[in-house]
Amino acid sequence: MVYLDNNATTPLDPAVADKMVHFLREHFGNPSSLYPIGRAVKEIVNEARGTIAKALGASQSEIFFTGSGTESDNFAIRGILDAAADKKDLIISAIEHPAVLQTANHLETKGYKVSYVPVDEHGLIDLDFLKDAVTPRTALISIMQANNELGTIQPIEEVTKIAREHGIRVHTDAVQAFGKIPVNVRDLGVDLLSISSHKIYGPKGIGALYIRKGTQISPLIYGGHQEREMRAGTENTIGIVGFGEAVRILKEQSSGDKKRVDKLADRLKKGIEETIPKVKFNGHETKRIKWTLNYAYPGLEAEAILLALATKDIFVSTGSACSEDSEDVSHVLSAIGLRPEIARSSIRMSLGRFNTEEDIDIVLRELPEIVENLRKISALDVDDY
Ligand code: PLP
Repeated sequence: MVYLDNNATTPLDPAVADKMVHFLREHFGNPSSLYPIGRAVKEIVNEARGTIAKALGASQSEIFFTGSGTESDNFAIRGILDAAADKKDLIISAIEHPAVLQTANHLETKGYKVSYVPVDEHGLIDLDFLKDAVTPRTALISIMQANNELGTIQPIEEVTKIAREHGIRVHTDAVQAFGKIPVNVRDLGVDLLSISSHKIYGPKGIGALYIRKGTQISPLIYGGHQEREMRAGTENTIGIVGFGEAVRILKEQSSGDKKRVDKLADRLKKGIEETIPKVKFNGHETKRIKWTLNYAYPGLEAEAILLALATKDIFVSTGSACSEDSEDVSHVLSAIGLRPEIARSSIRMSLGRFNTEEDIDIVLRELPEIVENLRKISALDVDDY
């Protein structure tokens, strides 16, 4: 199998699985219990919290566990707006993940005003538009650090500079950035930052939100005292243990991973561009995460390519996993100005720690032939792009 959909989810690192199995067998205590088997688990949970805090340049008390990257995004946005009762304006980019976009859409129906910052043809946000969108009622700006479909990296430091001049809080969805490029909350200057475990070789169903100390925010889930009363519910201890271990390994391996996977991605990019006529690269040539490669194959339906690749055990995506089963054109590809038929011809390949040179050999052997054969029988115009 050649797995090239690491932006959708990553395989569990075997070392993470080992740590989780050991924990499952040895510990069942509730971290809220005061006797030793509970205290031991609380300590393990806080060790994971500390590891994650350190990796983000935050302090331990600023990390809150959630059920996913999606929940972290919801918590950040709804929590800040709920606490800022008199400020009802929100600014996001047009290419946010649905976790942010749909939250903003929902808030609009409740009377909040949302400004959508447009992006250029490479997926970079328009900073002048953002500056002009700021009002005295703006409570929060939420701009993702790296886009899941294109890999384009946004100038978050510039965003926080603008926000600081107006006393506005900034949230960034770093779900796709974390583990691939430096993510440091102090360097970025953000107040809130979302990450998710299953994108970094950890288990699914566990995420975290960094909340800068002193930030006024309301809880998303009410109940018991867990997570300092910010996210009630008995902790997903097994998920937390796996997440902590995945982050520990990330720290140990990230520079090695980066060098190796960057090289694989460069080879794949060059190979696609040299061997397949008339492909169109979607994204930014330099301000991007190299591990995400999105191309349009004019004259074809992406789904046909995806299915043909799947028959060869090569797994890719036609967009973000969340929009996979929808008929609609990706909002990200529309936002960068692609016509619907070009957007519908686009395939995303996303690499990760476990990809090999052989994977790239296989793709570069199979893909050009698949595209050539499909184009021969396609009713669509290859030159119309
Ligand atoms: N934000 C971005 C940029 C993502 O790519 C994803 C997942 O695809 C999410 C948020 C949602 O994370 P989760 O799957 O943990 O809910």
